[in-house]
Amino acid sequence: MAQRTHIQKIRNIGIIAHIDAGKTTLTERVLFYTGKTHKIGEVHDGQAVMDWMPEEQERGITITSAVTTCYWREHEIHIIDTPGHVDFTMEVERSLRVLDGAVGVFCAVGGVEPQSETVWHQADKYRVPKMAFVNKMDRLGADFWNVVDQMKERLGAHPLVLTLPYGAEEDFQGVFDVVRGTWIAWDEASQGMHFEERPVPEDRREEVARARESLLEALSEVDDAILERYLGEEEIPEADIHAAVRRACIGLKGVPVFCGSALRNKGVQPVLDGVVRYLPSPVDIPPVKGEDPKTGAEVERPPRDKAPLAALAFKVQMDQGRKLTYVRVYSGMLKAGGEFLNPGKGIRERAARLLLMHANKRERVQEAGAGSIVGVMGLKETTTGDTLCDPEHPVLLEPIDFYKPVISVA
Ligand code: GDP
Repeated sequence: MAQRTHIQKIRNIGIIAHIDAGKTTLTERVLFYTGKTHKIGEVHDGQAVMDWMPEEQERGITITSAVTTCYWREHEIHIIDTPGHVDFTMEVERSLRVLDGAVGVFCAVGGVEPQSETVWHQADKYRVPKMAFVNKMDRLGADFWNVVDQMKERLGAHPLVLTLPYGAEEDFQGVFDVVRGTWIAWDEASQGMHFEERPVPEDRREEVARARESLLEALSEVDDAILERYLGEEEIPEADIHAAVRRACIGLKGVPVFCGSALRNKGVQPVLDGVVRYLPSPVDIPPVKGEDPKTGAEVERPPRDKAPLAALAFKVQMDQGRKLTYVRVYSGMLKAGGEFLNPGKGIRERAARLLLMHANKRERVQEAGAGSIVGVMGLKETTTGDTLCDPEHPVLLEPIDFYKPVISVA
């Protein structure tokens, strides 16, 4: 059995987007890169993920499970599906409840659309740290800075621009890494599987240097440590810049912004690096709260394997004729074959099987520790929103309440 990932290397993320912004394409690319890293499938061309899933390719849908697990730079990333359509607001709410960070996808032409605004504000409500990916830089009319401005105006975000587009529309060639001051060049021979870090072409150096200056300035506004060194005109090492971006992102004071084209496989790897660098692990967010069902007293459950079990069922799907319940474990350990309490319904349930869902396969695991998200087979009565807990230490996690979105009329 695979070794369990340390909790600090777990990322539970959602990709939130207006319909058509490119969420599916971005997810496919993410699975392409992460799949290749783990040698799950043979990659023959840029369509690797789809090679593993011919059926989905025909239907034009890649991922059907509510959560997909993948690995990047020794981190375990669970991508939680969040519906893009505003009609599914309740479902968005549910998924936002269980994720620790999100990547907002925007179209470089369409910008921040009303639906993205709604989901973004929902994520704000749950205090979910966010990054942004400005997609479709290759499309006619693509305007990166316009979208960055809209993020400020419409989302009230404080953007921290980490990659810059090199060219746009037909001429979109890739991205510049603002922190390192390099060009992340597309490698034709590997269909973008490998990137070459090259020096920024002469005629773009000033632009990249200015962007780095602007990033430090934006960081100074929200981070005193950077402010002091920035004012002192000190050279700030890369690692310190990354650490400051992470603090800003997790502290909800800044939004790391990336750009690229998911379709053309450009600019996606920096987003994955961003997920592991800047978005929080389950220990970086406040402990989950709930109440003791006997006394009504408020209790907190720490994100530790050794604490009593507290988990939330957030989605129930039929899977090959059987009920598959997706569960986020907040504290303690969920074990295959284990029995636990569903305090809301006053019943005991047993987990017959625990499954980690990957893009192209499912993996049976014996246990799921604090911070994990797994599919559970065998739960008979548990429904969405139910808590599962240790019968000796019962807790009822905060119920999922319905948030009425403010929809701006376009
Ligand atoms: P979703 O509805 O957010 O999941 O969006 P999809 O990933 O299905 O993409 C919507 C459409 O935009 C599809 O036709 C994609 O091929 C296209 N698309 C996605 N990313 C890009 C991109 O980077 N550039 C261009 N030109 N088209 C893209």
